[in-house]
Amino acid sequence: MSLRDKLKALEELQQIDLETGAVGVRAAEIPRRREALDEGLAAARKAYDAEKARIDGNEREKRGTEQLLQMERDKVKKWEGRLGEIRTPREYAALSREIDIARKTNETQNENLKALALQAAELQKSLETAADALSEREMAAEAELKALDARAAEHTAKLAELAARRAEAAGRVDPALLARYEAIKRRRAGVAVAMVVGQTCKGCNRNIPPQLFIVLQRAESIEACPNCGRIIYSSEAVNPTVPPPTQAP
Ligand SMILES: [Zn+2]
Repeated sequence: MSLRDKLKALEELQQIDLETGAVGVRAAEIPRRREALDEGLAAARKAYDAEKARIDGNEREKRGTEQLLQMERDKVKKWEGRLGEIRTPREYAALSREIDIARKTNETQNENLKALALQAAELQKSLETAADALSEREMAAEAELKALDARAAEHTAKLAELAARRAEAAGRVDPALLARYEAIKRRRAGVAVAMVVGQTCKGCNRNIPPQLFIVLQRAESIEACPNCGRIIYSSEAVNPTVPPPTQAP
């Protein structure tokens, strides 16, 4: 295999690795997005449950007040019946006073009941709002989860395809060069191979010495950028876009 072909295989490997990295980054976003959806749903459920608890509390208070009021009214009725049997004016006055106090208390309790009923209507509205918000969020989350599942499946398929292409490209590079590529890749933020355009290394954007530039044009040896250490190649030498000029006879 010519050196040009080896460099081309390295360049391809580089593209595959960069693409794999990018797909990996996108794939890693999916669990985070799922988590955010779960958190949003939990918050909406909590808000709904809080409204439900307030309604339940109001209902309990209403029932308790009603029971108490019923008991007190029965008591007042009994006392009123007893008034006719009382013989002494002092006892009569005392019971009348008790009845008045009980009636006033009952009126207050009745006002409380009315207030609780008004509050219940408000609470019902809040509960409906919370229920709407919850079901809206649930539907949106369901749709987004489906989309996330589809995207996760796409990523898995893409990563499998890239892995197959990588194995093929890596097979075209000798083990020593592959090991060198991997080592530089780790040191240089995932980019081990750089193109030289004009006299500039595209890995670090610094110029290479003119002599090295001439060596690169021959594409006969593996060279490294003296500045960033990346494997460099001349784009014109490795991927000639124009056929070499033919000598006129
Ligand atoms: Zn460089």
